[in-house]
Amino acid sequence: MAILPVTMYGDKILRKQAGRVDEIDNETIELITNMFDTMRNASGIGLAANQVGADKSIFIIDVANVEGYEDTKPIVFINPKIVEYSEDKSVFEEGCLSIPDIRADVERPEKIKIIYQDTDMKQQELEADELLARVIQHEYDHLRGVLFTDLVDEETKKKLKKPLQKIKRRKIDVEYPISESHDYQLTF
Ligand code: ZN
Repeated sequence: MAILPVTMYGDKILRKQAGRVDEIDNETIELITNMFDTMRNASGIGLAANQVGADKSIFIIDVANVEGYEDTKPIVFINPKIVEYSEDKSVFEEGCLSIPDIRADVERPEKIKIIYQDTDMKQQELEADELLARVIQHEYDHLRGVLFTDLVDEETKKKLKKPLQKIKRRKIDVEYPISESHDYQLTF
């Protein structure tokens, strides 16, 4: 069990397409366990592998602390692919452990269908709406190098320019461990 440093806005790995996972070895299991520890330590509800510096197509979610979702089990998504998006969209305020203290409205499809592999590398399929669809799309974007601040309207983008630069230059107070350089990456 370990809490890993969280990569910050400006780190290169957050802009990379994540590498495919071919097998679940002990290191991958350890990574996933550490991702859960890291996410919970930072009170997050979702975390992608590149947010802890791992170049792997994995994200996790755990929304059980959110009112109304107490019975929802944590889910590990490996090599995920969203195969359907609803035409209906909704706007919701998002935040991100890699972009501390910034929140902004993002418009996204309301419902999605995602296929992925579980930790036994078995193919799974999930249809999600509301909060679950929101968190899944946010984390899925991470694996493609996309951040929620890329998706806000132009006016908000202008407003966020300075605060984002501050994060990039580490001129921020964060209550959980963060990466030390823009090149931070786990080596395995
Ligand atoms: Zn995020």
